Amino acid sequence: MKDLLSLRTLSNEEIMNILNEALEFKKGKEFSLKNKIIANLFFESSTRTQYSFNVAQEKLDMKVINFNPTVSSLNKGESFYDTVKTFESFGIDAVVIRHSKDRYYDDLKRLKCPIINGGDGKGDHPTQSLLDLMTIYEEFKHFEGLKICIVGDIKHSRVAHTNFEIMNRLKMECYTSGPIEYKEDGYNYIDFNTCISEMDIIMLLRVQNERHSEDEKLRMSNDEYLERYGLTMEKVKKMKPNSIIMHPAPFNRGVEISDDVVECEKSRIFTQINNGVYVRMSVIKRSLTE
Ligand code: ASP
Repeated sequence: MKDLLSLRTLSNEEIMNILNEALEFKKGKEFSLKNKIIANLFFESSTRTQYSFNVAQEKLDMKVINFNPTVSSLNKGESFYDTVKTFESFGIDAVVIRHSKDRYYDDLKRLKCPIINGGDGKGDHPTQSLLDLMTIYEEFKHFEGLKICIVGDIKHSRVAHTNFEIMNRLKMECYTSGPIEYKEDGYNYIDFNTCISEMDIIMLLRVQNERHSEDEKLRMSNDEYLERYGLTMEKVKKMKPNSIIMHPAPFNRGVEISDDVVECEKSRIFTQINNGVYVRMSVIKRSLTE
Protein backbone atom coordinates (compact mmCIF):
# COMPACT_ATOMS: atom_id res chain seq x y z
CA MET A 1 0.00 0.00 0.00
CA LYS A 2 1.82 3.07 -1.22
CA ASP A 3 1.02 6.77 -1.38
CA LEU A 4 1.97 8.86 -4.40
CA LEU A 5 2.31 12.38 -3.05
CA SER A 6 5.22 13.78 -5.03
CA LEU A 7 7.79 12.46 -7.49
CA ARG A 8 10.55 13.93 -5.31
CA THR A 9 10.50 10.87 -3.05
CA LEU A 10 10.58 8.36 -5.94
CA SER A 11 13.86 7.04 -7.36
CA ASN A 12 14.47 7.22 -11.12
CA GLU A 13 14.06 3.44 -11.18
CA GLU A 14 10.62 3.62 -9.53
CA ILE A 15 9.58 6.26 -12.05
CA MET A 16 10.73 4.10 -14.97
CA ASN A 17 8.81 1.14 -13.50
CA ILE A 18 5.60 3.20 -13.45
CA LEU A 19 6.20 4.35 -17.04
CA ASN A 20 7.00 0.86 -18.33
CA GLU A 21 3.84 -0.53 -16.76
CA ALA A 22 1.83 2.35 -18.29
CA LEU A 23 3.30 1.52 -21.70
CA GLU A 24 2.19 -2.10 -21.20
CA PHE A 25 -1.33 -0.94 -20.33
CA LYS A 26 -1.35 1.15 -23.49
CA LYS A 27 -0.42 -1.96 -25.49
CA GLY A 28 -3.49 -3.71 -24.07
CA LYS A 29 -2.26 -5.42 -20.88
CA GLU A 30 -5.15 -6.09 -18.51
CA PHE A 31 -5.19 -6.08 -14.71
CA SER A 32 -8.13 -6.37 -12.36
CA LEU A 33 -8.63 -4.69 -8.99
CA LYS A 34 -12.19 -6.03 -8.78
CA ASN A 35 -13.89 -5.33 -5.45
CA LYS A 36 -11.42 -2.59 -4.54
CA ILE A 37 -13.13 0.72 -3.85
CA ILE A 38 -11.49 4.04 -4.64
CA ALA A 39 -12.77 7.55 -3.94
CA ASN A 40 -11.92 10.60 -6.01
CA LEU A 41 -11.96 13.59 -3.70
CA PHE A 42 -11.50 16.67 -5.86
CA PHE A 43 -11.77 19.81 -3.73
CA GLU A 44 -10.60 21.89 -6.71
CA SER A 45 -11.92 21.90 -10.29
CA SER A 46 -10.68 19.28 -12.75
CA THR A 47 -11.66 17.73 -16.06
CA ARG A 48 -8.75 15.64 -17.34
CA THR A 49 -7.23 14.50 -14.06
CA GLN A 50 -10.49 13.51 -12.40
CA TYR A 51 -12.09 11.82 -15.40
CA SER A 52 -8.96 10.09 -16.64
CA PHE A 53 -8.61 8.67 -13.12
CA ASN A 54 -12.23 7.52 -13.59
CA VAL A 55 -11.46 5.83 -16.90
CA ALA A 56 -8.33 4.22 -15.42
CA GLN A 57 -10.37 2.93 -12.47
CA GLU A 58 -13.05 1.53 -14.81
CA LYS A 59 -10.38 -0.22 -16.87
CA LEU A 60 -9.07 -1.80 -13.63
CA ASP A 61 -12.64 -3.03 -12.80
CA MET A 62 -12.72 -0.95 -9.62
CA LYS A 63 -15.70 0.43 -7.76
CA VAL A 64 -15.53 4.21 -7.88
CA ILE A 65 -16.94 6.99 -5.71
CA ASN A 66 -16.80 10.54 -7.06
CA PHE A 67 -17.11 13.10 -4.28
CA ASN A 68 -18.84 16.39 -5.09
CA PRO A 69 -17.59 19.07 -2.66
CA THR A 70 -20.28 21.60 -3.63
CA VAL A 71 -23.10 19.49 -2.17
CA SER A 72 -21.15 17.96 0.73
CA SER A 73 -20.99 18.65 4.47
CA LEU A 74 -18.10 21.02 3.79
CA ASN A 75 -20.99 23.49 3.47
CA LYS A 76 -21.95 22.67 7.08
CA GLY A 77 -18.47 23.54 8.32
CA GLU A 78 -16.90 20.07 8.18
CA SER A 79 -13.12 20.25 7.83
CA PHE A 80 -10.97 18.85 5.02
CA TYR A 81 -9.39 16.32 7.39
CA ASP A 82 -12.76 15.11 8.74
CA THR A 83 -14.12 14.74 5.19
CA VAL A 84 -11.23 12.54 4.11
CA LYS A 85 -11.28 10.60 7.41
CA THR A 86 -14.98 9.89 6.77
CA PHE A 87 -14.15 8.22 3.45
CA GLU A 88 -11.42 6.17 5.12
CA SER A 89 -13.94 5.07 7.75
CA PHE A 90 -16.25 3.77 5.00
CA GLY A 91 -13.51 1.19 4.41
CA ILE A 92 -12.43 2.32 0.97
CA ASP A 93 -9.06 1.10 -0.31
CA ALA A 94 -7.50 4.32 -1.66
CA VAL A 95 -8.23 8.00 -2.26
CA VAL A 96 -7.25 10.35 -5.05
CA ILE A 97 -7.16 13.91 -3.74
CA ARG A 98 -6.83 17.33 -5.36
CA HIS A 99 -6.79 20.41 -3.15
CA SER A 100 -5.81 24.04 -3.60
CA LYS A 101 -3.53 23.99 -0.54
CA ASP A 102 0.17 23.25 -1.15
CA ARG A 103 1.13 19.98 0.59
CA TYR A 104 -2.45 19.41 1.83
CA TYR A 105 -1.34 15.86 2.56
CA ASP A 106 0.68 17.05 5.57
CA ASP A 107 -2.73 17.49 7.28
CA LEU A 108 -3.59 13.83 6.56
CA LYS A 109 -0.63 12.10 8.21
CA ARG A 110 -2.93 10.11 10.53
CA LEU A 111 -4.71 8.48 7.56
CA LYS A 112 -3.89 4.88 6.80
CA CYS A 113 -5.34 4.35 3.32
CA PRO A 114 -3.06 5.25 0.40
CA ILE A 115 -3.35 8.77 -1.01
CA ILE A 116 -2.71 9.51 -4.67
CA ASN A 117 -2.09 13.20 -5.24
CA GLY A 118 -4.17 14.67 -8.06
CA GLY A 119 -2.54 18.09 -7.57
CA ASP A 120 -1.76 20.20 -4.48
CA GLY A 121 -1.98 23.97 -4.97
CA LYS A 122 1.19 25.30 -6.60
CA GLY A 123 3.14 22.34 -5.23
CA ASP A 124 3.10 19.13 -7.24
CA HIS A 125 1.14 17.26 -9.88
CA PRO A 126 2.86 13.87 -9.98
CA THR A 127 0.51 12.03 -12.38
CA GLN A 128 0.64 14.94 -14.85
CA SER A 129 4.45 14.76 -14.85
CA LEU A 130 4.36 11.01 -15.30
CA LEU A 131 2.11 11.31 -18.35
CA ASP A 132 4.36 14.07 -19.70
CA LEU A 133 7.38 11.80 -19.23
CA MET A 134 5.55 8.91 -20.90
CA THR A 135 4.75 11.11 -23.91
CA ILE A 136 8.38 12.28 -24.18
CA TYR A 137 9.72 8.73 -23.77
CA GLU A 138 7.39 7.36 -26.46
CA GLU A 139 8.54 10.08 -28.82
CA PHE A 140 12.31 10.15 -28.24
CA LYS A 141 12.98 6.76 -26.47
CA HIS A 142 15.26 8.52 -23.96
CA PHE A 143 15.43 11.59 -21.70
CA GLU A 144 19.10 12.47 -21.36
CA GLY A 145 20.18 15.60 -23.23
CA LEU A 146 16.70 16.57 -24.49
CA LYS A 147 16.11 20.30 -24.34
CA ILE A 148 12.78 21.49 -22.97
CA CYS A 149 11.46 24.99 -22.41
CA ILE A 150 8.40 25.30 -20.15
CA VAL A 151 6.68 28.57 -20.99
CA GLY A 152 4.10 30.50 -19.01
CA ASP A 153 3.12 31.14 -15.40
CA ILE A 154 5.98 29.16 -13.84
CA LYS A 155 5.57 30.61 -10.35
CA HIS A 156 1.99 29.40 -9.84
CA SER A 157 2.19 26.14 -11.79
CA ARG A 158 2.45 22.79 -10.02
CA VAL A 159 3.10 21.21 -13.44
CA ALA A 160 6.20 23.40 -13.92
CA HIS A 161 7.43 22.68 -10.40
CA THR A 162 7.11 18.90 -10.65
CA ASN A 163 8.43 18.69 -14.21
CA PHE A 164 11.43 20.93 -13.63
CA GLU A 165 12.62 18.78 -10.73
CA ILE A 166 12.13 15.38 -12.31
CA MET A 167 13.25 16.34 -15.82
CA ASN A 168 16.51 17.75 -14.45
CA ARG A 169 16.97 14.58 -12.44
CA LEU A 170 16.53 12.54 -15.64
CA LYS A 171 19.30 14.70 -17.18
CA MET A 172 17.14 16.69 -19.55
CA GLU A 173 18.28 20.27 -20.22
CA CYS A 174 15.46 22.31 -18.70
CA TYR A 175 14.65 25.96 -19.26
CA THR A 176 11.67 28.13 -18.39
CA SER A 177 10.26 31.29 -19.91
CA GLY A 178 7.21 33.52 -19.86
CA PRO A 179 6.20 36.82 -18.25
CA ILE A 180 8.98 38.04 -15.97
CA GLU A 181 6.35 38.56 -13.23
CA TYR A 182 5.91 34.78 -13.08
CA LYS A 183 9.58 33.82 -13.25
CA GLU A 184 10.83 31.41 -10.57
CA ASP A 185 14.34 31.86 -9.17
CA GLY A 186 16.66 28.97 -9.96
CA TYR A 187 14.55 27.77 -12.91
CA ASN A 188 16.92 28.65 -15.79
CA TYR A 189 14.87 31.49 -17.27
CA ILE A 190 15.53 32.30 -20.96
CA ASP A 191 13.97 34.44 -23.70
CA PHE A 192 11.28 32.37 -25.38
CA ASN A 193 11.29 33.90 -28.84
CA THR A 194 15.05 33.41 -29.24
CA CYS A 195 15.19 29.79 -27.98
CA ILE A 196 12.37 28.29 -30.08
CA SER A 197 14.64 26.83 -32.78
CA GLU A 198 16.84 25.02 -30.24
CA MET A 199 14.25 23.12 -28.21
CA ASP A 200 13.21 19.47 -28.60
CA ILE A 201 10.11 20.15 -26.54
CA ILE A 202 8.14 23.32 -25.96
CA MET A 203 5.68 22.92 -23.10
CA LEU A 204 3.12 25.69 -22.84
CA LEU A 205 1.28 26.54 -19.63
CA ARG A 206 -1.92 28.36 -18.90
CA VAL A 207 -1.80 31.58 -16.87
CA GLN A 208 -3.06 30.37 -13.47
CA ASN A 209 -5.51 33.25 -12.96
CA GLU A 210 -7.31 31.57 -10.06
CA ARG A 211 -4.11 31.67 -7.95
CA HIS A 212 -3.29 35.34 -8.42
CA SER A 213 -3.64 37.99 -5.78
CA GLU A 214 -4.77 41.42 -7.05
CA ASP A 215 -1.20 42.68 -7.55
CA GLU A 216 -0.14 39.49 -9.35
CA LYS A 217 -2.72 39.87 -12.13
CA LEU A 218 -1.22 40.31 -15.58
CA ARG A 219 -2.39 43.50 -17.23
CA MET A 220 -1.91 42.41 -20.84
CA SER A 221 -4.31 41.70 -23.70
CA ASN A 222 -4.61 38.16 -25.06
CA ASP A 223 -3.11 39.30 -28.37
CA GLU A 224 -0.09 40.76 -26.65
CA TYR A 225 0.38 37.62 -24.57
CA LEU A 226 0.21 35.44 -27.70
CA GLU A 227 2.70 37.64 -29.50
CA ARG A 228 5.22 37.69 -26.61
CA TYR A 229 4.89 34.30 -24.91
CA GLY A 230 2.44 32.24 -26.94
CA LEU A 231 3.00 29.76 -29.74
CA THR A 232 1.70 30.71 -33.19
CA MET A 233 2.10 28.82 -36.48
CA GLU A 234 4.73 31.36 -37.50
CA LYS A 235 6.84 30.37 -34.47
CA VAL A 236 6.12 26.64 -34.94
CA LYS A 237 7.79 26.91 -38.37
CA LYS A 238 11.03 27.90 -36.59
CA MET A 239 11.01 24.75 -34.42
CA LYS A 240 13.53 21.93 -35.00
CA PRO A 241 12.47 18.97 -37.15
CA ASN A 242 11.18 16.18 -34.84
CA SER A 243 10.54 18.63 -31.99
CA ILE A 244 7.16 18.52 -30.24
CA ILE A 245 4.65 20.80 -28.49
CA MET A 246 3.07 19.86 -25.17
CA HIS A 247 0.50 21.46 -22.86
CA PRO A 248 -1.06 19.95 -19.71
CA ALA A 249 -4.40 21.64 -20.60
CA PRO A 250 -6.83 23.24 -20.15
CA PHE A 251 -5.43 25.52 -22.85
CA ASN A 252 -6.72 28.93 -23.78
CA ARG A 253 -6.80 29.25 -27.58
CA GLY A 254 -5.55 32.66 -28.66
CA VAL A 255 -3.62 33.26 -25.42
CA GLU A 256 -0.69 30.85 -24.85
CA ILE A 257 -1.46 28.86 -28.00
CA SER A 258 -3.05 29.88 -31.27
CA ASP A 259 -6.05 27.96 -32.53
CA ASP A 260 -4.23 26.29 -35.44
CA VAL A 261 -1.33 25.07 -33.25
CA VAL A 262 -3.55 23.02 -30.92
CA GLU A 263 -3.90 20.11 -33.38
CA CYS A 264 -0.91 20.79 -35.65
CA GLU A 265 1.42 17.98 -36.62
CA LYS A 266 3.91 18.76 -33.81
CA SER A 267 1.27 18.93 -31.08
CA ARG A 268 1.15 16.00 -28.64
CA ILE A 269 -1.55 17.55 -26.43
CA PHE A 270 -4.14 14.85 -27.08
CA THR A 271 -1.52 12.10 -26.83
CA GLN A 272 -0.73 13.44 -23.36
CA ILE A 273 -4.40 13.19 -22.42
CA ASN A 274 -4.59 9.63 -23.73
CA ASN A 275 -1.40 8.62 -21.89
CA GLY A 276 -2.87 10.01 -18.67
CA VAL A 277 -5.25 7.06 -18.48
CA TYR A 278 -2.44 4.46 -18.66
CA VAL A 279 -0.15 6.28 -16.24
CA ARG A 280 -3.01 6.50 -13.75
CA MET A 281 -3.76 2.78 -14.13
CA SER A 282 -0.10 2.10 -13.36
CA VAL A 283 -0.07 4.44 -10.34
CA ILE A 284 -3.27 2.95 -8.87
CA LYS A 285 -1.96 -0.59 -9.34
CA ARG A 286 1.28 0.39 -7.58
CA SER A 287 -0.63 1.94 -4.68
CA LEU A 288 -2.84 -1.09 -4.12
CA THR A 289 -0.56 -4.01 -4.86
CA GLU A 290 3.00 -3.10 -3.87
N1 ASP B 1 -4.45 20.85 -15.32
C1 ASP B 1 -3.20 21.34 -14.82
C2 ASP B 1 -3.24 21.47 -13.31
O1 ASP B 1 -4.18 21.01 -12.70
C3 ASP B 1 -2.75 22.59 -15.50
C4 ASP B 1 -3.62 23.80 -15.35
O2 ASP B 1 -4.64 23.78 -14.66
O3 ASP B 1 -3.26 24.81 -15.97
O4 ASP B 1 -2.32 22.00 -12.73
